[in-house]
Amino acid sequence: MNKPAPDWHAAAAALRIDGRALIAGQRVAARSGETFAKASPIDGRALGDIARGRVEDIDAAVAAARAAFADARWAGKAPAARKKVLQRFADKILAAKEELALLETLDMGKPIQYSLAVDVGATARTIAWYAEAVDKIYDEIAPTGASALALITREAMGVIGVVVPWNYPMIMAAWKLGPALAAGNSVVLKPSEKSPLTALRLAELAIEAGLPEGVFNVVPGYGHEAGEALALHMDVDAIGFTGSTRVGRKMLEYAGRSNLKRVYNELGGKSAFVVFDDFADVTRAARTVAGSMFFNQGESCNAPSRVLVHEKVADRFLEVVAAEAPKYAPGDPLSGRAEMGALVDETQMNTVLGYIAAGNAEGAKLVTGGARARAETGGFYVQPTVFERVRNDMKIAREEIFGPVMSVIRFKDEAEAIALANDSSYGLQASVWSDNVNRAHRVARALRAGTVHVNQYDEDDITVPVGGYKQSGNGRDKSLHAFDKYTELKTTWLRIDAA
Ligand code: NAD
Repeated sequence: MNKPAPDWHAAAAALRIDGRALIAGQRVAARSGETFAKASPIDGRALGDIARGRVEDIDAAVAAARAAFADARWAGKAPAARKKVLQRFADKILAAKEELALLETLDMGKPIQYSLAVDVGATARTIAWYAEAVDKIYDEIAPTGASALALITREAMGVIGVVVPWNYPMIMAAWKLGPALAAGNSVVLKPSEKSPLTALRLAELAIEAGLPEGVFNVVPGYGHEAGEALALHMDVDAIGFTGSTRVGRKMLEYAGRSNLKRVYNELGGKSAFVVFDDFADVTRAARTVAGSMFFNQGESCNAPSRVLVHEKVADRFLEVVAAEAPKYAPGDPLSGRAEMGALVDETQMNTVLGYIAAGNAEGAKLVTGGARARAETGGFYVQPTVFERVRNDMKIAREEIFGPVMSVIRFKDEAEAIALANDSSYGLQASVWSDNVNRAHRVARALRAGTVHVNQYDEDDITVPVGGYKQSGNGRDKSLHAFDKYTELKTTWLRIDAA
């Protein structure tokens, strides 16, 4: 018999939040005793008080992480032993899926069924995948002459600082934790102050799974306090950062001002979705863009927010988009039926409404949406919004909005489409829709983006790297390539004497 669906409202009412940091295996208050209040964006309810980590808390977490690395309690274990612990960690994530999903939805507002199916599932799969990989990767022997042997080996780096955003709090953390921990590093994770809850629970589950104390520490707090302290720390070897381009720039400065730690930036996007008039199924293209744009309230780094459509099919395409968009009208995130939930907080909602005002002021045509929704709940919701007759030099086409706002731009030919798509400071993802295989390949090659989709937008898997060109970042999360970020490459020369 299937288990009945949980009563999410009752589960939320019964929830008790422990907002203390987790350092050296222990739940601890901030050294200063300070906390900040965390409210839910779904209705403004108070969720709990969260430790306000600062320099001294980061110092303690980094010291714990360094001590764990120095005595090799984790890095010194055989890869097969690390694999077992991380597999147990992934199992524990799945066993706690309802609790984790609820925390994620209450914290940042996304619909509970997606927290459950997408966020928890991807987090567990990421940890399990890196666990599986780590005892199957071999080092190299260089093709040198007979008088020497040169070994090229990968070694754990040491202490990795991880700073993540609030849009996919668990998944973004897992994309760093998976390779960093599997490779033998210690981690200090600073979750977003807007979504600290699941990070703390993940660290507890990791310890229950057998991860030694001090290997995985979580310090909640504000970016300019705990985040800055971590990125400036002289004993942190690398920063795995996902967030805005503005803060990514700071991360590079912090490294320059401190110990030149490696900085891997996964930053913002303004991804182009290019539909040619030789793509027959305009309806499928239009439905796909609506689904991808409004998923996660539009708060996705890869949201296809710049939609370039050939002028011949633009009217037909817009008709379908206009009919699709209202299907994503925000609803109660705990109902299990809402396609869109709440934006993460009032500030983000006002930022999004500000962009909508800018679109109207700059002369773009509002097709649908454009206003706040469900204000009576006390939460922060915005209608799915579509602008057309957008020019690529308008603010809504140039800046990342990070909310449910799509801009549709018309183009005349392939050269113009490529030029428009690439005319952005970002280069995270892009998509090309064409039934002409030559054009599809030609345009995919011409697009300056880390991921290009052809005739679809939603394919994704832990097996492929994701990351950006240009100001969308420099690192690549996921796939075996992610190990490069958290390991040092060592060359060892051995002399072989003649007999
Ligand atoms: P943000 O840059 O404001 O914050 C991200 C993290 O950095 C948070 O933990 C925050 O506390 C911390 N931070 C803020 N200021 C800091 C400072 N001065 N020093 C150190 N840390 C600081 O971003 P956000 O609003 O949380 O997230 C949205 C952004 O993340 C969007 O731009 C989105 O595109 C991007 N993102 C990118 C990817 C990707 O894979 N490329 C994935 C998800 C989100």
